[in-house]
Amino acid sequence: MSTPADYYDLSRVRPEVLSVLDKINELGATFAKRAVGIDLQASFPVENYKDLAALGYLTLTVPTEFGGHGFSLGEYAMVGAEIGKYCGATALTFNMHNSSMMWSRFMYELPHLTDADRAAFAPLRERQFRRAVKEQGIYSQPISEAGQNWTSKPAQTNCRKVEGGWVINGFKKFASLAGYCDYYSIVCTELIDGVEPRHEDTMIFVVPKEAKGLTVQGTWDPLGMRGTNSRDLVLKDVFVSEDDLMMPRGLFIKTLPHWPHMMATLSPTYMGVAQGAYDFTVAYLRGEVEGQPAADRRMFGTKRIAVGKMYARLAAMRALWWQVFTEAQGMPSKAQVLRMYAAQYNVMEGVQEIAAMAIRTCGGQSMLKSMPLERMYRDSRCGALMLPYTSEIMEDYLSVLTLYDVEDLDKAPGDADGARSSLWRGTAGALKGLR
Ligand SMILES: Cc1cc2nc3c(=O)[nH]c(=O)nc-3n(C[C@H](O)[C@H](O)[C@H](O)COP(=O)(O)OP(=O)(O)OC[C@H]3O[C@@H](n4cnc5c(N)ncnc54)[C@H](O)[C@@H]3O)c2cc1C
Repeated sequence: MSTPADYYDLSRVRPEVLSVLDKINELGATFAKRAVGIDLQASFPVENYKDLAALGYLTLTVPTEFGGHGFSLGEYAMVGAEIGKYCGATALTFNMHNSSMMWSRFMYELPHLTDADRAAFAPLRERQFRRAVKEQGIYSQPISEAGQNWTSKPAQTNCRKVEGGWVINGFKKFASLAGYCDYYSIVCTELIDGVEPRHEDTMIFVVPKEAKGLTVQGTWDPLGMRGTNSRDLVLKDVFVSEDDLMMPRGLFIKTLPHWPHMMATLSPTYMGVAQGAYDFTVAYLRGEVEGQPAADRRMFGTKRIAVGKMYARLAAMRALWWQVFTEAQGMPSKAQVLRMYAAQYNVMEGVQEIAAMAIRTCGGQSMLKSMPLERMYRDSRCGALMLPYTSEIMEDYLSVLTLYDVEDLDKAPGDADGARSSLWRGTAGALKGLR
């Protein structure tokens, strides 16, 4: 199994980050063993979370002044990718938690927030950080809703102002960690009498798992990422108070235009899955897979060439991906956004190519359920379809952002039905739906 030294310039990695990466690799064999049963039963990686919590890793991205590790987005991404080598479902769900922490952290740090914004935001974020640090609370972030791309149209889940807070009603599809997290970060649209639902009325609340009216429903028996437990969430007259806001009114919807890299955090998981598939292939051809006969399969030129191609693809993916996460910042430049979209696209497409090549190269036995590659192959298929940056959307966004100046983006054809609502549109940072 390769280690961070094989794909990062370690002189550019802080020692405290390196020690977390090393620790994850120590835990890796245990995570990999558990991944078999988790995948088979589509159960949740509860034990892995206990291990991560015991090490204090639920606070990787929480600022140090609140007792967290204060990792940057890029440092967190490296950890996510290490976990993904061993268990994709753990990495993907771990991202939902960390991503919620990062929203609270990085949106607050944006330079153009007013004093009033910050004053309203400060106690809210402190509350979330405290929960992660003191209670070891786990957050999920169910945004998706069935039958509608939430980036194109305002969320259908809604809230209505009442005395002392709001009442939420709605439905969330693919609520990873459903039934296993402590808090759900719920995105919804505030209904205002006489006004059509609008992006600018998007709100985000933190709903505790025991909230009255919140239920987890449906079954979960998918192709891949089976351990994410992404069942349905129904919210019926769920009351939330002012304190349950994750961000002040109007801020969440600016995450996409102001901090677009924060929405690319599904890619670390798939970077890890790709690395895992490559590592398995090398070990298999060398006859070094535990529990397998020590057969050396390196004599076939076809297999050697295939692994060479896999390495070349993986190294290119990793280099771009690492650059993108290393330079991630609020209010990025057009070049940084283009690179980020390209990295997202390369990782989500590349992971499938590498996993498919791994199966072809290792041969028939590698598709048996007794081999981790069979699971990685299925897991690898899921990344390209995850919103807001699906591969289709990345193709469209890259195509217009490369060919048009930012101020001419509205002239680019193909923006029917809000297809480009979440496209980055320059340092002014306005989403189309907000202008
Ligand atoms: C394992 C797994 C875990 C998940 N966990 C979560 C989670 O925790 N939280 C969460 O919110 N969601 C989660 N999701 C959901 C995911 O992010 C997507 O919302 C979901 O996969 C979209 O599927 P859909 O069929 O409902 O897409 P739809 O909503 O039906 O439609 C969107 C489709 O339209 C396409 N499209 C949209 N705009 C454009 C454009 N401009 N150009 C071209 N094509 C376009 C998209 O590519 C996409 O295929 C998870 C999904 C999976 C597979």
